[in-house]
Parts: sequence; structure tokens; C-alpha cells
Amino acid sequence: MKILIVGAGIAGPTLAFWLNRSGHEVTIVEHAPTLRSGGYLVDFWGAGFDVAERMGIVPELCRRGYVFTEARAVDRNGRRIASLDPESVIESNERYLSIPRTDLAAVIYESLGGAAELMLGDTVQDVVDDGQRVEVAFESGVTRHFDLVIGADGLHSRVRKLAFGPEEQFEKYLGMVVAAIDVDQYPERDELVAMMHADVGFQAIRLSFRDDATLLLFSLRYDGEVPTERAEQESLLRLKLGDKGWEVPQMLAAMSDAKNFYFDAVSQIRMPSWSTGRIALVGDAGACPSFLAGQGSALAMVEAYTLAAELARTSDHREAFARYEERLMPLIRSKQDAARGLGVAFAPKNRFQLLVRNSAMKLMGLPKIGDIVMGRSFHDRVELPAFPEQTPAH
Ligand SMILES: Cc1cc2nc3c(=O)[nH]c(=O)nc-3n(C[C@H](O)[C@H](O)[C@H](O)COP(=O)(O)OP(=O)(O)OC[C@H]3O[C@@H](n4cnc5c(N)ncnc54)[C@H](O)[C@@H]3O)c2cc1C
Repeated sequence: MKILIVGAGIAGPTLAFWLNRSGHEVTIVEHAPTLRSGGYLVDFWGAGFDVAERMGIVPELCRRGYVFTEARAVDRNGRRIASLDPESVIESNERYLSIPRTDLAAVIYESLGGAAELMLGDTVQDVVDDGQRVEVAFESGVTRHFDLVIGADGLHSRVRKLAFGPEEQFEKYLGMVVAAIDVDQYPERDELVAMMHADVGFQAIRLSFRDDATLLLFSLRYDGEVPTERAEQESLLRLKLGDKGWEVPQMLAAMSDAKNFYFDAVSQIRMPSWSTGRIALVGDAGACPSFLAGQGSALAMVEAYTLAAELARTSDHREAFARYEERLMPLIRSKQDAARGLGVAFAPKNRFQLLVRNSAMKLMGLPKIGDIVMGRSFHDRVELPAFPEQTPAH
């Protein structure tokens, strides 16, 4: 089949890799003019790690990634409150790493070896599904036809909007915004330690990268209108966090020169179904668990792999879409429910929640306790289907 994938993030290229394996003709359209670099870090483990292994990309992910050995919570004076080994919490048997999201996307894309057509700097303007095929009008003015269109265009998916309706129908705002800021030559460094400071309403995290780069991450309780322009977003951070303790003022001072500045609402996408006719969604576009889940990339890969495996099993896309949903909807719902409960860890609402967060971090530093407290949210209760060797004629 001729399949259009919209979005070259994590889910899109993963899907292209596996669709290509079963002989489909794949086009990817990405609205960014180039495949980006830098940006925020994602922790990566669980069933997504298994998909990466099946793709043969784990060695390259390890080469570009990091294994943080400590998450350290400090108070407003920088004194250690708690310390834990991430590995002991998720018990991944060393199948765990952290990697910039754009590096993960690049490694997946490179694994395609040019097997998919890539249209950069363009996007879909309209999609018309007549039951036999989908007519796609691109913003560049071109019109083309595809057998299927898959939206892998992230939290604010255009495909979802065009085929399923406005974002507001499906977005659940979790009362928080997140900012991820890449800075160079930040003076404080702690190699392979995630430094964290939380107080009522926010958390600030600092991570040291190679080449003297540093990632600053803020999560902030916020009930107002979420600003969309960088200048307003920076002002909001300064206004809400300017008088906080630890290194927060120093972090805010470094913010203006940042080469990569990401800011968005912390939201989930909850949909009753991920497909309509010949159009379907993968990754954040249909099932964003929010950054609180810490697993969106890995889940996006699991979804892409499962969708491709189901499409390889049958020539009936309706059957494949239904089975994809049936297999994964329960897992996604449970991840989303668990993530909603983690807001207390990322930005405690009040003094009591702050106390709970700090006590939980202390407890999680004790052997086995981390897994007991958090294991339920971190373990993936899903069995990946085998990828069919023989595929039906499409
Ligand atoms: C601060 C932060 C921290 C996170 N930490 C983690 C973590 O620790 N672990 C983890 O697993 N996940 C984490 N996540 C979540 C993770 O980044 C996402 O779940 C994951 O990137 C989803 O992959 P995706 O391919 O669905 O979407 P994306 O990675 O968002 O990719 C979407 C792609 O579509 C493109 N696009 C968008 N609109 C259009 C359009 N109209 N036309 C064409 N292309 C378009 C975008 O440019 C992008 O390339 C975090 C997220 C944030 C914000």
C-alpha cells in the first residue's frame, strides 16, 4: 500500500521502518525544514527498548545516550534531601538509558536507510477519505493520493484535527506547564546526576550533557492561559520562579541565550478511538500520556511497531486498526491514569504534597522500595506481537 506518515519524530520513523519491512511504499512529511538536534532528554526503557532492540538500534542509542546513576533532590540551599538510583526504581536490568529526543528520532530515521520518501518543510492542509483512498492536499500546493494516512505529528496533531475534530475535544490539561532549555557553558555541573529542587508549585531539574551543554527543566503549576510566544513564556517563568531558592535565579538568567527553548502545556490526549476510515494516529497524536509518564517516546515506538505488525498480518486496514487499538488501549489508559497521579512529584501543589514528595524520594532510595512504590507505573504490562515474516498481498 502507499502510506503517508505525517511527522518525523519518534513514532513516524519507527512506523516507516516496520511498514517498509512488509513492503509498503512509505512517504513521510515533516513540517520542520530539517530534522532537528538538541532539545530535551527522554528516559527510555520498557517495551519501547524491546522495539529498539528488534530494530537493531540499541548500540547506537547507547553511544549517543547517557546512563544517569543518581537522581538527587536538594533543598533551597542546595543541601541533599534524598538520593536514588533510577535503575533501582524501574528495575530494568540495565535496559535503560536517557537520550535527547532528537537523537532518538535521528537514530530511528537513520535506521530506515533512505527507504522512505521524506518531504521536509511541508505538511497536510486537507485530507479527504473517499473510502477507496485518501486525497491529501499539501501546504506546498501539491495534491497526492494514498491508501492510508497515519498522523504521527505529536501532541498538537494536525491530522487529528482534520480527521477527528478540534484538539479541545481530546486534550486534558493537567494544570501544569513544562519548559526545557538547552544552555552552553552553564557553570554548575554534576556528571550523570539529575539535580532536582522542588518547592510548592514547581520543580527545577539540571542535567549535564557532553560538550559542556546543560539541560534545564522546569515544571510549574499554572492555571492561566498558556502563553505561545517565547518572550511571554520566559516572562512567566521569571515572574513565578524569580524568587525561588537553589540555583533557580541562575538558571533563569541563563535562559535568554538558550539555543533550544521548549515550552508547552502538560496535557494528555485521550481518544475513544485512534482511527477513522483510512486514517489513524500513533504516538502523542492519539495517545499522549504527558511528560509526567516519562515514557511517551517508548510508548510511541510500541504503538508504531504494533500498528505495523497488525497491518502486516492482514490486507484489511480496518481489521488491523481495530486490533492495534484493542492491544494497546488498556496499556495506554493505565499509563495515563498513573501519570496523572505523578503531578505531586513534578510540582507539589502545597506544603503537604511537598512533604509527601520529599519523603517518597527518601523511601525510594532504599533497596527494593522504589520498585514497590513506583513499579506499577513504570513496568509495561504488554506483550509485543511477533512481526509477521510473510505478509498478505496488499
Ligand atoms: C519536557 C519533556 C520531557 C519528556 N520526557 C520523556 C521521557 O523521559 N521519556 C519518554 O519516553 N518521553 C518523554 N517525553 C515525551 C516524548 O517526548 C513524546 O511522548 C514523544 O516525543 C512522542 O513521539 P511522537 O513521535 O508521537 O511525537 P513527537 O516526538 O512530538 O514528533 C512529532 C513530529 O511531527 C512533526 N509535526 C508536528 N506537526 C506537524 C505537521 N502539522 N505536519 C508535519 N509534521 C508535523 C514535529 O515536528 C515532530 O517531528 C517528554 C516530553 C517532554 C515535553
